[in-house]
Amino acid sequence: MTRIVDLRSDTVTRPTPGMRQAMLHAEVGDDVFGDDPTVNALQERIAAITGKEAALFMPTGTQSNLCGLLAHCQRGEEYIVGQLAHTYRYEGGGAAVLGSIQPQPLLQDAQGRMSLSDIAAAIKPDDSHFARTRLLCLENTWNGHVMPHEYLTGAAALAREHGLAVHLDGARIFNAAVANAGEGGDPLVALRQITDVFDSVSVCFSKGLGAPMGSALCGSRELIARAHRIRKMTGGGLRQAGVVASAALYALDHHIHLLRQDHAMAQRLAAGLHDLPGLAVRSAQTNIVFLDVSEGRGPALLAHLKAAGVLATGMIGLRFVTHLDVDADGIDHAIAAIRAFV
Ligand SMILES: *Cc1c(COP(=O)(O)O)cnc(C)c1O
Repeated sequence: MTRIVDLRSDTVTRPTPGMRQAMLHAEVGDDVFGDDPTVNALQERIAAITGKEAALFMPTGTQSNLCGLLAHCQRGEEYIVGQLAHTYRYEGGGAAVLGSIQPQPLLQDAQGRMSLSDIAAAIKPDDSHFARTRLLCLENTWNGHVMPHEYLTGAAALAREHGLAVHLDGARIFNAAVANAGEGGDPLVALRQITDVFDSVSVCFSKGLGAPMGSALCGSRELIARAHRIRKMTGGGLRQAGVVASAALYALDHHIHLLRQDHAMAQRLAAGLHDLPGLAVRSAQTNIVFLDVSEGRGPALLAHLKAAGVLATGMIGLRFVTHLDVDADGIDHAIAAIRAFV
């Protein structure tokens, strides 16, 4: 039987036996009434980790960002966001569709940064011609890149000078925290350094942390109260959600430090491919490796890999994401399959 090495995304992980046990034994209640103890425990834990007053458990990161955007902005207001940011490009235009909020997308550099001068120029003066600029939205990690701390603080300071709030799409913030902490550092201290820059932060439990689903929006009590109403309105009020919140709690207890291993696996993959003709590795600092394939051979390489039991995504730039369910043997199998193609 061919073994499958699934590098399409860090969302493909299966709950571990320990996580399944936690889910089996989760205490539950009806979270729409606010009395699911496991959901409440998760919300308190992630609020404490991110240093915010409150947090709200969400089914998905898209809903978490959406509730954040709608809680920050009213109709006819706008948020500044990267042209390739998830909250602009990959969320179905939800803020515009459901909130009548105008996105102001800006170009990003290869590391995902919008320039501060572009941000400054995009903030509209108080004039009836313009939408009212309310929010700056950043993402960390972006395509596996960790945003430098000086960039985050510089962009946030600029936004606040103009009265804007600042939101972070931190779907992979735990990867950023582990990378920033380095070998001996504490990822939670590093994480707090990032979240302290923002008014609100959305985190995902279903990516590198390996939970089957779930995200959380974290912010002030007032913001979270507004988001709570929007979550209900958008159909995200859950009942015995402790069954899945327990998996997220388990992930916070047991999986954060394992992200180091994911980053090492991405390095291993990048190192195994760096010398191949016609392929350019754009190695990321965290758990995502991009491979540029010349002469339109991307689809052929993807098909070859699929036949060898290695799954990835992309066209010209193929994307490989490491996670909990990929080990060194899997990575070596992927390297061998790519080398065989070349
Ligand atoms: C995955 C992801 C999200 C949320 O995605 P969902 O599939 O809705 O959970 C948000 N932002 C970024 C950067 C992501 O990678």
